[in-house]
Amino acid sequence: MNRKPTTTSCDVLILGAGMSGLALACQIGHYNNKKPNCQKSTIIIEPRKSYKEDRTWCYWKKSNSFFDPAVTHKWHKWKICSQGKTYLSKYSSIPYVRVNSSIYYKLAQKFLEKSNGIRLINGVSAKEVLPFTDKVKVKCDDISINTKYVYDTRPKVIPDDTLLQHFGGLEIKTTNDTFDTETVTLMDFQITKGDDIHFFYILPFSKKHALVETTHFSKVHLPKETYKIEIEKYLINSLHLKNWQIVREEYGVIPMRKKAPTLKHRKFNNIIPLGLHSNTTRPSTGYCYPHAQKQAVDYSKSLSIGNPTLKKADRNVFVRWLDMIFISFLENHPQKADAMFMNLFRKTPSEALINFLSDDAKFCDYMNVIMAMPKKTFIYEALRCVVKS
Ligand SMILES: Cc1cc2nc3c(=O)[nH]c(=O)nc-3n(C[C@H](O)[C@H](O)[C@H](O)COP(=O)(O)OP(=O)(O)OC[C@H]3O[C@@H](n4cnc5c(N)ncnc54)[C@H](O)[C@@H]3O)c2cc1C
Repeated sequence: MNRKPTTTSCDVLILGAGMSGLALACQIGHYNNKKPNCQKSTIIIEPRKSYKEDRTWCYWKKSNSFFDPAVTHKWHKWKICSQGKTYLSKYSSIPYVRVNSSIYYKLAQKFLEKSNGIRLINGVSAKEVLPFTDKVKVKCDDISINTKYVYDTRPKVIPDDTLLQHFGGLEIKTTNDTFDTETVTLMDFQITKGDDIHFFYILPFSKKHALVETTHFSKVHLPKETYKIEIEKYLINSLHLKNWQIVREEYGVIPMRKKAPTLKHRKFNNIIPLGLHSNTTRPSTGYCYPHAQKQAVDYSKSLSIGNPTLKKADRNVFVRWLDMIFISFLENHPQKADAMFMNLFRKTPSEALINFLSDDAKFCDYMNVIMAMPKKTFIYEALRCVVKS
């Protein structure tokens, strides 16, 4: 016998309780707790029944956030290596930090449990999302939810021909002291083969414990086994390791879209895309975490005054154009990518570069970044982007 799904309703429905969905839910929770009279009844649904440590989020931490207790490591030095040369950056004011996803999920779950007007439902997937002018109906297996606004963080299909940042990482423990605990290796470039830009990334947690990642910028991602083999070769040939223990693995694909999604061009006013496949991610860098936290604060504020979004949630035309040029450069000049990144880190003042990478740059920071780019190629790509768009 078919059971009829129960129907419920709420002001706000968040699809997906991953990084960005939980960030938004917690911010709405703060508002609900602070102002019980203007509560937004909120449901957040998530297919996963339980969480595990599935990824490592890093970013330059410029301000305090609700999830600070999930920050387990911080560094003030980072380096880029290419063709036998190393450039080391030091910056004491803004640390590069690591967020542990397992602690992040626990913090959010605990907070939501005791927040007013919020329900996190695990083990439930959105099957159909039906927009109407005044509401959205979301059908799941056993439940149907009517809501005013949907924030949709579900993964999306990445269009063909999109440049991808794809990677695999192994968290390893070694018997001997191996890692420099003070310095993150942001990019250790390997020889570019064809269109494939390839580098390794090392997050040292202790002298004997690190996350080592192999990252590619190219249009086709690889089988997990290939990433694993690449890392193992790197451990042997570059870090001269003989033995190590793998304690965790992580894999990811981040779209670097030249025409990045914008809120303005969303299909339905009451369905707001959020997270990795929306305008949350900075397409030229792949960083998503800091902007997701900022959007969570902004959206919860705007919801409290009856608006689902804020105009400022979109990057402006200039920034999107700059991202497009940057990605076009990577697509069309992969052989020059390592030299370009090396120059970017060498020539741009640390704070300006951090602001650029953190999606928080001022006009003068962008100018500093532009000045560090190879002029002729940059102008050529800028013109190409103008013609193509
Ligand atoms: C391994 C890895 C490392 C990364 N490292 C960094 C980093 O260092 N810094 C950084 O800024 N960014 C990083 N990113 C990019 C980005 O920050 C993460 O992908 C982040 O998790 C994106 O958050 P999200 O909420 O969009 O997606 P997710 O955290 O993946 O959440 C989406 C949720 O939607 C759920 N879902 C799926 N289908 C449905 C459905 N039908 N109905 C309801 N829910 C559904 C999923 O189960 C999932 O929980 C990394 C990504 C990966 C994969």
